[in-house]
Amino acid sequence: MKKVLVLEDESSIRSFVVINLKRSGYEPIEAETGEQALEQLKKNPDIRVALLDVMLPDIDGFEICRRIRASGSKIGIIMLTAKSQEMDKVTGLMTGADDYVTKPFSPAELTARIDAIYRRTGGDFEEETVSGELVSGPFKLNTRNRTLEKNGVRIRLTQIEYSIMKLFMDNPGKALSREEILNEVWGRDYFGELKIVDVNIRRLRIKIEDDPTIPTYITTVWGYGYKWGF
Ligand code: CA
Repeated sequence: MKKVLVLEDESSIRSFVVINLKRSGYEPIEAETGEQALEQLKKNPDIRVALLDVMLPDIDGFEICRRIRASGSKIGIIMLTAKSQEMDKVTGLMTGADDYVTKPFSPAELTARIDAIYRRTGGDFEEETVSGELVSGPFKLNTRNRTLEKNGVRIRLTQIEYSIMKLFMDNPGKALSREEILNEVWGRDYFGELKIVDVNIRRLRIKIEDDPTIPTYITTVWGYGYKWGF
């Protein structure tokens, strides 16, 4: 799971963030105070991104950020700053934050920032090099021997199908255009038709979906492309 620490003392904002993170496929770990945030980070060394509110009752968000960096941690850090505190941005970045989001923010904006930081901090990449595995729902993709398992049962894939699966599992919940899939899997110098994407996905669905006529893993984004997820 893609764990994200959410440090925010206002419960209404915290639950708003938590709901939206869950919807985007993240596992939020909540903290109400700076002290709790540090405890949760210790308890959950697999947290990849932290959202830190600045104004807190005990230790402020900047100090938390400083302490996280002082411990040598390279997790992604996004500060949640108030509009009235323009200086927060500079201070936050100086203390080691990667980005900041100004309140009030939209769910889409927050998710986009987290996705970007998550990718940049190499969340997926590190998981892959450490374990050689990408896991999503019942699927386990072994990136060393390029095999796929569903509920522990091997599914035979072509190299192209493997590459499509890897692209999807690297980008859970993200709508990928057919052009994007074509470029990533076949390469930018491939001069085929977009239809090749649809054909391969149809075949892949037959192999991996519980019911290929009602796909739930590879879903269609009408007029655009496809998405991995739920
Ligand atoms: Ca606050």
